[in-house]
Amino acid sequence: MLTTLRQIVESVTAAPSLSDAMHSLVQQTRAAMHVDCCSVYISEPQRQRYRLMATDGLSQEAVGKAILPFDEGLVGLVGRREELINLADAPSHASFKYLPEVGEDEFKTFLGVPIMHQRNVLGVLVVQQKLSRQFTEIDESFLVTLAAQLAVRIAHAELKGLISSSSNHRAVHGVGVSSGMAIAKAWVWQPKMALSQVNLKHSDEPELQLELLNQAVLQVQIELDSLAMRFQDAVQVDSQSIFDIYQHILADPNFIAQIELEITENQWNATSAVRQVSERLIAQFSAMSDPYLRERSLDIRDVAQRLLSCLAHSHMDQFDFQEPVILLAEEVTATLLAEIPKDRLAGVVSIRGAVNSHAAILARTMSVPAGMGLELPLQELDGQELIIDGGNGDVIIQPGSAVLAEYEQLIQQAKAFDDLVAQEAQLPSETQDGCPVSVLLNAGLSLDVDNCLMDCSDGVGLYRTEIPFMLHDSFPSEQEQTKRYRAILEQYSGRQVCMRTLDIGGDKPLPYFPISEENPFLGWRGIRITLDHPELFLAQLKAMLRASEHNDNLAIMLPMISCVSEIQSARRLLDQAWLEVSDELRTRGSAIRYPSLGVMIEVPAAIYLLPDLAPYVDFWSVGTNDLTQYLLAVDRNNARVAQMYDGLHPAVLRALQQIVHTANQQAKPVSVCGELAGDPVGVLILLAMGYRRFSMNLNNIAKIKYMLRRVRTDALVPLLEQAIQLHDSVQIRKLFTTYLESVGLQGFFSKKA
Ligand code: PEP
Ligand code: MG
Repeated sequence: MLTTLRQIVESVTAAPSLSDAMHSLVQQTRAAMHVDCCSVYISEPQRQRYRLMATDGLSQEAVGKAILPFDEGLVGLVGRREELINLADAPSHASFKYLPEVGEDEFKTFLGVPIMHQRNVLGVLVVQQKLSRQFTEIDESFLVTLAAQLAVRIAHAELKGLISSSSNHRAVHGVGVSSGMAIAKAWVWQPKMALSQVNLKHSDEPELQLELLNQAVLQVQIELDSLAMRFQDAVQVDSQSIFDIYQHILADPNFIAQIELEITENQWNATSAVRQVSERLIAQFSAMSDPYLRERSLDIRDVAQRLLSCLAHSHMDQFDFQEPVILLAEEVTATLLAEIPKDRLAGVVSIRGAVNSHAAILARTMSVPAGMGLELPLQELDGQELIIDGGNGDVIIQPGSAVLAEYEQLIQQAKAFDDLVAQEAQLPSETQDGCPVSVLLNAGLSLDVDNCLMDCSDGVGLYRTEIPFMLHDSFPSEQEQTKRYRAILEQYSGRQVCMRTLDIGGDKPLPYFPISEENPFLGWRGIRITLDHPELFLAQLKAMLRASEHNDNLAIMLPMISCVSEIQSARRLLDQAWLEVSDELRTRGSAIRYPSLGVMIEVPAAIYLLPDLAPYVDFWSVGTNDLTQYLLAVDRNNARVAQMYDGLHPAVLRALQQIVHTANQQAKPVSVCGELAGDPVGVLILLAMGYRRFSMNLNNIAKIKYMLRRVRTDALVPLLEQAIQLHDSVQIRKLFTTYLESVGLQGFFSKKA
C-alpha cells in the first residue's frame, strides 16, 4: 500500500496540469482502494458551493458541471465539519443528497475527506462503493494523505490561475519581515543556473578562474558520489550508471582541458568558459545520428549546469544587474543577500524563511523591504513588475496605474518620516522623564560600514562575525580577521564594541565547512563548534585581541552558552590567547587590556544558570531571536509556523523579567540584542522591566531614539503590570501601541518597524 501511495503522490506531483493531476489521482485511487468510484469536488468559496472536477466512476458528463452548495449533501458536510466522514450506509444519512445528473444512485458506502490547505477547505475527495462496506483506518489514512498532496497542487494552481489571468493586479500575502515598500521588476534566483543565463565575460585573473573551476569540479564530483551512493542503497543499477557517465564526463580530459584552455588562452572567466565548451559539445552530440550518442548531449548539459551552479553560488558578480530588482528565490539566504550589489536590491521575496531568519535580519539591516513565506510560482514571475510591501508581506503582481500611484505616494510618505526622525538621531537617547538609555548597534551582517547613522549609536552591542566567514572560500586567516576587527574597533574608538565569536551552524552554514544535520538549530552551532575546534576559536580570539592594541574598547561575547563548563573552557582559551598575544606585544613594548567577556542568553537553560554563570562573566546580552525559538519550540526560519513565533509571548516576557531581575541581583550589566530590542513595542516593555541597553539594526536606531525621547518609564511600569496578566500577545501589543498613540506617535511604528 505504501508503494502504491508513493506512486500516486509522485504522479500527482509530476502531472503537467492540475486537471491531469486530479484525473490521474482519481483513476489510481479507485484501482488502489478497489472502490467503484473516486471523485474530487473543488470549492468555489465566492459562490458557497463545490463543483465536481474529476471522477472515475460517476458520469463523465457531470465533470465541471455538477454543483453542490456548501450546506448540502455529504460532501457539504465533510467541508463544514472539516473532517472525514466514513459511512457504510450513506443513503440512510440525513445529509445524503441524491444528484441525478452524476449517476450515483447505486452507491451505498461513502468515505469523504476534506482537502485542506492553510486552514481552508479547498475541496473534498470522495470514494464510494456499490456494496455495503466499512472502510478501515488504513483506507482513511490513505485518502487523507492523498488529499494533503492534492491540496498543495490545488493551492499552487489557484495561484497560477490568479497570475496568468492578469488583466488586473494580483496580490499574494506572506509574512512581512522588513518594512518599507518598493516597486521594481522581479529577478528570480535559481541555484541551478541555466547555461543560457551565463553572461559572457573576460577575466584577467586566469589563475583564480582555474582555481574556481577546480573547486567546482571537485564539488560536483562529491555531489555525484553521494547521489550515486543514495541510488546504490536503493539498488537501482541503471540510475547508478548514469552517475558513472557523469563522472566520466568530468574526468574526460577533452571536456575539462578545453574549458581550461578557454580560460588561459582566450581569457574567459570560468562560467563563460564552461558555457562555451559545453554548448559546443552539446551541438556536436545533438547532431549525431546514433540515438545513444545523441542522448549524451543531455548528460553534458546536466554536468555543465552542476558546474555552473557551484561557480555561480560564490560569484554573483557575473550577473549584470542593469537596474534595481526585487529578488525572488525559493530560499533567500544571508549569503545570497550579502552578495548582491546593495544599490541593485530593491526588495526581497522568499518562499521559505520567516521573520527572524538571518536573511530577514540582514534585509532589515540593509533597509530593504522583504516578505517571506509567500507561495509563488517563481519562474512565471521573472521580469514582471512587482510591488513589495515588507510591512505586511504583500506582493502585488503587475499593478495597475492606480495602485502604482497609491504606492508611490506611500513610499514618499515613508521617506518623509525617515527624514523627520533622522533630524533627531544625534540627540542623546533618554526618556522624557530623564532616564538614560544606551542605544547600540547590531553590526557585522552587512559589510558596508560607512553609514553616518552609525555615529548616532552608543557603541556596538553585537558584532556578528559570521558573514565575512560565509563570503570566503576558506576560513579567513588570522591576519585578515585582525584587519577587519581593527577597522571596526577604530571606527568606534571611545565606544565599546562587543564582538561575538563565530556563531555558524543553524541557518548560517559555511560553504567550505558543510555540516549536515536533521535539526541544525538544535545541533552543532555557535560555541559548540568553536570549542570543538580550538584552532579556529583561538585564531579568532587572537585576531580580536591583536586588533585591540591601541583600541581599548573590545568586549567579547560567546553565543549559545548552555552550561557552565562551556564558559569555563572558553575562558581558558581566552586566557591562553591573551597570554600569547600579550607576550608577543611585550617584545615590542606594547600591551593590551584583558577584555570584558560576556555571554548571550539565548538558550533557555542559561536563564536558570545565571547565578552559576555570574562568576565567570562580566556581562550578559539577551538574544531574543533564539530565546524565543527555543522557548516556544518554533523554528525561527520556518514560514509554516511563523504565526507562532512571537517575541511578545507571555512566556518570553516572563523569561525576560527573570533575566533582568537576576542580573540586577548579581549586579551584572545586561542588554538585549535580539530583534525585540529594535521593535518599538518590545523596547517599551523591556524599558518597563528595567532594561536600559538595547542593541539593534542600523535602520531602527533613529526611530527608536525618536520614540524614547517621547515616552516616560513611569507610565510604562503600570502598563507592564497589566500586560503580564494577559495571555495573548495581540492584546499586549495593543496596550503599548495605544500608549504610543496617546503620546502622539500613532501610526509611526508598524509591527516590524
Ligand atoms: C539572537 O539569537 O537573538 C541573536 C542576537 O543572535 P542571532 O540572531 O545572530 O542568532
Ligand atoms: Mg542567536
